[in-house]
Amino acid sequence: MGGYFLGIPAMRIGVPRETRPGETRVAATAETVKKLAGSGKHEVVVESGAGLRSAVTDADFQAAGARIGTAQDTLGADLVLKVRMPTEGEMPQLKRGALLIGLLNPFDATGLQALANAGVTGFALEALPRITRAQSMDVLSSQANIAGYKAVIIAADEYGKFVPMLMTAAGTVKAARVLVLGVGVAGLQAIATAKRLGAVIEASDVRPSVKDQVESLGAKWVDVPYETDEEKQIAEGVGGYARPMPPAWMQRQAGIIAERAKQMDIVITTALIPGRPAPKLIKAETVAAMKAGSVLVDLAVEQGGNVEGSQLDKIATTPNGVKLVGLTNLPAMVATDASALYARNVLNFLALSLNVKSGEFTLARDDEIVKATLVCDNGAVVPRG
Ligand code: NAD
Repeated sequence: MGGYFLGIPAMRIGVPRETRPGETRVAATAETVKKLAGSGKHEVVVESGAGLRSAVTDADFQAAGARIGTAQDTLGADLVLKVRMPTEGEMPQLKRGALLIGLLNPFDATGLQALANAGVTGFALEALPRITRAQSMDVLSSQANIAGYKAVIIAADEYGKFVPMLMTAAGTVKAARVLVLGVGVAGLQAIATAKRLGAVIEASDVRPSVKDQVESLGAKWVDVPYETDEEKQIAEGVGGYARPMPPAWMQRQAGIIAERAKQMDIVITTALIPGRPAPKLIKAETVAAMKAGSVLVDLAVEQGGNVEGSQLDKIATTPNGVKLVGLTNLPAMVATDASALYARNVLNFLALSLNVKSGEFTLARDDEIVKATLVCDNGAVVPRG
């Protein structure tokens, strides 16, 4: 297909209400709708109630230039802006030939095949390349930032003591000791948030480049030494992402982390390797050796978890009194800001193809950012390069 979208200059841009359980975010806000509708060329239709859980009312959307419609009005649009992959029920409502932008999970082959069968051209924003030009569209960063913040807030809430050190007339309270494992976007924000609460923090990651960032945030780096050149080379990762480490390094790491974890009050784990199960960083015996009242928040639980025993969408207490938090979709718990940032990411991505002032739309197929995110193209799944 060439540059022009169905050869039609005017599109209907649809923003459905997210229907997956617990999904409170929305793919557009009044701020982004104003820009999308600003040229007067395109009609923006928002499903009634779509923004309510993110504190954007139908009236706000209308004031920004949107029409309020039904699920079918929005899912059947020429360009559909979503947060999550359409559900089985939503899929048949998509229009063949429509464009769809969202968190479409580029590693979910079954989901992508269903999308391809629906005849949709889909862009998975998780697949954005980590290049400077794509930073303003980087949904993984914007949402991981929020998850890292919320993980600390949840941990502090589940922890039965103060986080900061306090000197009171009734005696002194010690500062909580926090360990952050995996220091990408979420981990860095977890360190920064725990610091603001007054915790004493240690952190570790497989990528050696992270050490300086950890120390500049006032946390102590927990070093897991490399014993071979191969280990060192794998640890550098690719494109900003980690790679699976050899078993010998993982074993060394487990030993060091087990020792540190016993001293900790709060542990936040965020370690991920794209397209693979999350690395196991904390063994069951380490959890069993931790102090009663300690809290572990496992942000990788959806990918199998960094902590042995953490359970999906549950807060469990072990026999030795350690709380294992396996809650998922933490950004949805900070829905207003999560939606505001996500909607801006979507708008910035769209701006590669859409001139918001003139309304001219030419799908930027040759742009490396657009190319990298294209997962389904007119009825076929695009093989990942
Ligand atoms: P991620 O969510 O994929 O992983 C989280 C962290 O887990 C990473 O730091 C990773 O190294 C770590 N990890 C993986 N396996 C581990 C193990 N066995 N032990 C310990 N830690 C382990 O990563 P992310 O947060 O999306 O970001 C990764 C990097 O990319 C960051 O340095 C970030 O600053 C960078 N980034 C760059 C851009 C850009 O330039 N456009 C945009 C976003 C992020």
